[in-house]
Amino acid sequence: MFEHFDEKARRVVFWARAVAGLLDESSIRPLHLLAGIRKEMPRLFKKVDLGSLGRVPPRLSEAELRNPASASKFSTAIPLSKESKKALELAGQASRKFGSETTSAVHVLWGVFHADAKLRKALPKKGLTEKAVEALCRQFSAFEAPGGTSGVIRPIVSCTPVSAVATSSRSGIGYDLHRLAEGRKLILGGIEVPFEKGPVGHSDGDVLSHAICDALLGAAGLGDIGTHFPDTDPKWKGASSMVFLETVRPMLSERCLRIAHIDAVIIAEKPQLGPHFPAMRAALAKALGVGAEQINLKAKTNEGVDAIGRGEAIAAQAVATLEG
Ligand code: MG
Repeated sequence: MFEHFDEKARRVVFWARAVAGLLDESSIRPLHLLAGIRKEMPRLFKKVDLGSLGRVPPRLSEAELRNPASASKFSTAIPLSKESKKALELAGQASRKFGSETTSAVHVLWGVFHADAKLRKALPKKGLTEKAVEALCRQFSAFEAPGGTSGVIRPIVSCTPVSAVATSSRSGIGYDLHRLAEGRKLILGGIEVPFEKGPVGHSDGDVLSHAICDALLGAAGLGDIGTHFPDTDPKWKGASSMVFLETVRPMLSERCLRIAHIDAVIIAEKPQLGPHFPAMRAALAKALGVGAEQINLKAKTNEGVDAIGRGEAIAAQAVATLEG
């Protein structure tokens, strides 16, 4: 699956994997992708009778797949065949060709049609010609992406889904605390906040970014920040924590995971942080490749209680929600 695949296109691959699994196939073939397209977008074939071609076996229902007991039989990672990889690659190209920013099921159909010689012969006999596929792509690209394209061609990154379930939502929690000392810069969410004290730490001590990083790693089941960016490694001495987030970002997309939302709270007695939130959200959004509206920030004091309340430390908590 690819980074810019939308929900339906991802589900097409999911169904294809499930069908291949049910049929005990050793790889996901374009015919299985076709089954996924039929399942996800039956309206594509409203005027076309594909017969038994690429039909999802009737006993394979979503309810069955979502049942943990039966889902286990589809959890084995069945690889994409060479032709299917090609089909998905062509799907990405088709989305750009037809002016859509995201790759949808209809583009996968284009890919399947052009990647598999047998299907390319068989489909026109069932009423689905190259011209018809092209017309569907034009129609549905316009429908799916009414805003048209920005003209930006982004690289396609292949990934392996972490879950056999079609689309799952995963949450992770992150927490960080740093002592504060005078004469150090206070970096929070990638920006410098004017203050007389700053965090003591191996990197820039950005508690907000560290908590978000841990929340993302947690949601992806990838351990924690210490495992990936150990403070014993001189490479990370004084490093901008934005680098941590930029490093985690492809680790998520490689697993077909997309950041849905991040919510975080910074706990500090001083300074006042609210006015700096727009800049922090913009910096975090840039590092993570998401919209600023997907990041919510809050600030709390500790009411003068304990080390944070005495201004000796600063902390942050974050919750990240991923979809994939
Ligand atoms: Mg830290």
